[in-house]
This record gives sequence, C-alpha cells and structure tokens, in this order.
Amino acid sequence: MDKWISGQELIQRFEEWVPERLAFENDKIGLLIGTLNKKIRKVMVTLDVLENVADEAAEKQVDLIVAHHPVIFHPLKNVRSDEGQGKIVTKCIKHDVAVYAAHTNLDIAEGGVNDMLAEKLSLNGTEILKPTYHEPLYKLAVYVPETHLERVRKAIGEAGAGAIGNYSHCTFSSKGEGTFLPHEGTHPFIGRAGDLEKVSEQKIETIVPESLLDKVVRKMLLAHPYEEVAYDIYPLKNEGKQYGLGRIGKLNEPVTFEEYCCQVKEKLGLDGLRAVGNLKEKIQTVAVSGGDGNSLIPYAKYRGADVLITGDIYYHTAHDAILSGLKVIDAGHYIESVMKKGVQLYLQNVIREKGYNTEVIVSESVTNPFQFI
Ligand SMILES: [Zn+2]
Repeated sequence: MDKWISGQELIQRFEEWVPERLAFENDKIGLLIGTLNKKIRKVMVTLDVLENVADEAAEKQVDLIVAHHPVIFHPLKNVRSDEGQGKIVTKCIKHDVAVYAAHTNLDIAEGGVNDMLAEKLSLNGTEILKPTYHEPLYKLAVYVPETHLERVRKAIGEAGAGAIGNYSHCTFSSKGEGTFLPHEGTHPFIGRAGDLEKVSEQKIETIVPESLLDKVVRKMLLAHPYEEVAYDIYPLKNEGKQYGLGRIGKLNEPVTFEEYCCQVKEKLGLDGLRAVGNLKEKIQTVAVSGGDGNSLIPYAKYRGADVLITGDIYYHTAHDAILSGLKVIDAGHYIESVMKKGVQLYLQNVIREKGYNTEVIVSESVTNPFQFI
C-alpha cells in the first residue's frame, strides 16, 4: 500500500464535491501549473497564489497547491522569471509545485465558500441566492427477469437512483413478456442459441441525476443476469437539483444594522468593513456572497434580503443599493479565505479514509493586498 495519494486520485475525489460542471463557462479552473501524475506528500490550501505563497510552498516542500483564485486567469504573453505573473509560475515549476484551482465551482458547490460564510455568519434556513445550474435528470428503464427483480432494484437504488426529495430507492415496476432469439456464439442466461425464447420479465423505471448516471448503469449491468441487457435512458424535462451563487438566510432575531456590522467584523476576523445604509434600522434577512457582489444587488433585493454581505462593491453600485433600500456590507474579498480551513478538512478526510499519510496544510502567507491604517 502506497503511503502517498496520487495527484489524480486526490483531485478526482475533490471534484466529487466541486465538479467542473458547476463552474462558470470562462473560468480558469483545474490544473494550471505542473502535473497531477505524481505522488503527493504535502498539499497546501490557499486563497491566492502570490509570490509569497509560491515561496512558502517551496520552503515547505509542498507537492500540490489547491487554490481558490486561478493563478493564471488572463492569458500570459510571456513567462519571465524576473517580472509579472511569470515570477510565480517559474517558482512553482522550479520547485515542482503543481497548482490546481477550484474557483466558481467551489463558490457554487454545496458546502462551498458561500455556505462556509453563511455558517460563520450564523444564518438559518439558508437558500441559494442566484440559481446558476440545474442538474439534468434522466429516466432509466431496464427489463429484468422476475428472478433478478429485487437484486437489480437494490443495486441501482444503492448507486443513488430514484432519489426524490427526502425519499430514496424510488422505482416503478410493471410485468410483461420479453422475447429474444439468441444467435450462434451467444451464451444466454435462459434458453438456447437458435430458439426463440419468451420470458416473464419486469420493467423497472427510475430517475437518475446526470452525475450518477454512469455509476447507476454500471451497477445495473453488474447485477443483471443477461449477457446483453436491454435498457433505455431518456432525458427528462423535470428540473434537477439546483446550484447557484450566494446564499440567503435569517438571523435568530432582528438586530440594528450597526450591531450586525460589529458582529460580522468579529465573526469574520476583520480589521474593518464598509457599511452602506442606515445603521439604526433593524435587519434580519441576510444575503452573502464571497467575491464580487456588484451583480447580486437585484437578486438580494428581490429575495427579500435586508442586507447583502459581499467582498467587492463599487461606489456607484452602493448608490444603487441605497436607492433600492438594500443595505450592503463590503467586508473585503479576503473573507473568502474561510475556504482554506473548509478545503483542508475535506482533503484530510479523503486522505484519512484511504489510509494515506499525505499531509494537508493551509498557507500562512497573507495575500490580502489591503491594510487598514
Ligand atoms: Zn474570489
């Protein structure tokens, strides 16, 4: 048994939580520098990859950096070791540090950056602020001989088929008669080559989300006794699980905006924040989104938020918020560093579960460019 997890295995497990399909189309996610085709002794989680982070990785002999913000976002015109982004890229390559980024997929994922923030801010009944993606659903219909009905039904249910709300293993089966004519060279489970067979069969129907379709079909084929299994997969118009940007929830009780600003400062460990709106008014419904929140003002307003907490807001957008009656807290983009601990915990679980010795650390380098004087 290997002591160290491979880069591919680690990222494959990570992407079960933050799949690439959740990311915005033009986002620069995934492996950005180096290779995953190596053993990983040490992983370092960071919000940004700046020069100090690359130095820290080299010094601590890190094999893989998992970052939130993509180290290369705009295409590079050159990779110079003496200036610009090239300085960081060169350092990583020189010290064999691979860099992988999970950006909008980590914002959007269940339990991702925005859920971590909502939890830190003690929001209750949290919902998605702006839906961005509905997972496609499929109908799977498979024809099974009576003898194997329960076996196949159990296998697809265990693989996650038939989940509807808080119910699992939902299927429907109907009786019928199957016919088949095995040709030369076949090894039919029932009947003989050359004879037309009639068999009493059941048709099992169930619903499967796209992310589980391959797994469900694989498990179904394993549990099914036939050499050639007859099954159909139909795309559905039903809306699947919803994913999206930002979260909205409620505080236990209404507090003044001023008091809440103080709470946010404390809960997120901030030196300061910028508040937009009347400090004396009471608030209770809170929307939060870690990064650039400028486009989320109308969503927060529409969903009934009293205040939107975000990482970046423009002067004129703040005016628009005042006009619409929405309060805003610009807490700084660095609040997203909450992801360091969350991602560390997830990766540590993956590694521990499989009995590897790979170490997961969080970067101690400060990457917040702003200081309060
Ligand atoms: Zn961000």
